[in-house]
Amino acid sequence: MTTARADVSETALRWPEQPALGGWYTQDEIDAVMQTLTDSADWRTGFRAKAQEMTFEDAFAAHAAVPFAIAYNGAGTAMDQVLACLDLRPGDEVISGALNFVGPHLSVLRAGARLLLAEPSPGGFNPDPEHVARLLTGRTRAILVTHMNGQVADLQPLLDLAERHPHPEYGPARIVVDAARAVGAETDLGPVGRAGWASVFSFQSKKGMTTLGEGGMITTRDEALAVRLRRLRSFGKGRLLGSNFKMTKLQAAVGLVQLRRLRDMNDRRIHLAEQRTEHLRDLRIPGLVLPPSIGRAHTHYLYNVLLPEDWGAAGRDEVRRLLAGRHGVGSLTGERPTPHGHELIARATAGQHLPAAKRTADRALHPCLHPLMSDAENREIAEAIGDAVRTAAATRT
Ligand SMILES: *Cc1c(COP(=O)(O)O)cnc(C)c1O
Repeated sequence: MTTARADVSETALRWPEQPALGGWYTQDEIDAVMQTLTDSADWRTGFRAKAQEMTFEDAFAAHAAVPFAIAYNGAGTAMDQVLACLDLRPGDEVISGALNFVGPHLSVLRAGARLLLAEPSPGGFNPDPEHVARLLTGRTRAILVTHMNGQVADLQPLLDLAERHPHPEYGPARIVVDAARAVGAETDLGPVGRAGWASVFSFQSKKGMTTLGEGGMITTRDEALAVRLRRLRSFGKGRLLGSNFKMTKLQAAVGLVQLRRLRDMNDRRIHLAEQRTEHLRDLRIPGLVLPPSIGRAHTHYLYNVLLPEDWGAAGRDEVRRLLAGRHGVGSLTGERPTPHGHELIARATAGQHLPAAKRTADRALHPCLHPLMSDAENREIAEAIGDAVRTAAATRT
């Protein structure tokens, strides 16, 4: 994530800018690692991962209510493989939300597609279906949706759009979901991972659950896709130009434990986020847009605050400085539109104007939130946010 640095060193912060979100391990994860190490000392099996990997995949598929889950060494490689399975040709187009991590957009460019960026919905971070509708053409092959910062994007309007305007040769555009920040989230369409053609999850150390710092998963209901992905993951199994993207046995064993604990871990984060929102509402700070409290449809990967629009990035940065300097609360400024985060994306999307995405990015602040923070600490942080925003407002007049 690209961020501007505050004027204070991180060591001075009582709460870091972005703590690792996963890595909340219990004795169960430690036992799983030790057991796997001990079992692997058998020279007949060693670190052969297949059994553990299949157990983890089956559990993850059941969790996402899909027939197929395919484990990967990371979400970046997993997204590359999903997009490779679109068999894109020059001129084919993929639409995606502009406010995003650069990773999925680099995957689109590597797959050889033209990347069309959509503006966010008003007051939010996820793509605006109305703007997506305007970008849809006879060459659209996929709509890549990221559930930004843990808030589930509404996929139904995008699924409807794709159905109404099918590609002349390939049919409706595929809905590809980047669920890296929304593992365990639940929606009207079922658990995240069920709706759409394929969903990609990350178990990197910042995500809601982690398999020793790196790892990923793809879920799908499309059997042909699942079979192809499994072959590609393991050197093509005699027929495809595959490579090796496999997860290790230790990662799978730990993933199984983390998956069992996922709901509790997410619920703690959701509790803290909703509690913080309630505190901030009570403080009645004018102009502040707070994240919606929508239960498990928002896992609050980051706690999203939008400052008043006319303050711009400078006003937001002042709040960030005050939060850190006066209160020791670290925060992130979060993602800008991806062309600002990577020169190759900028080159590939030159001429696409995204004023709404830029305005939202300039207003966004993400104060530290971590499931292991106490309720009392959370209240202190809410009060710090209130103080910083009021102070910044007073210096403006
Ligand atoms: C972390 C992240 C990724 C990449 O995941 P890795 O497992 O680190 O490759 C992709 N998309 C989003 C939105 C992410 O937050």
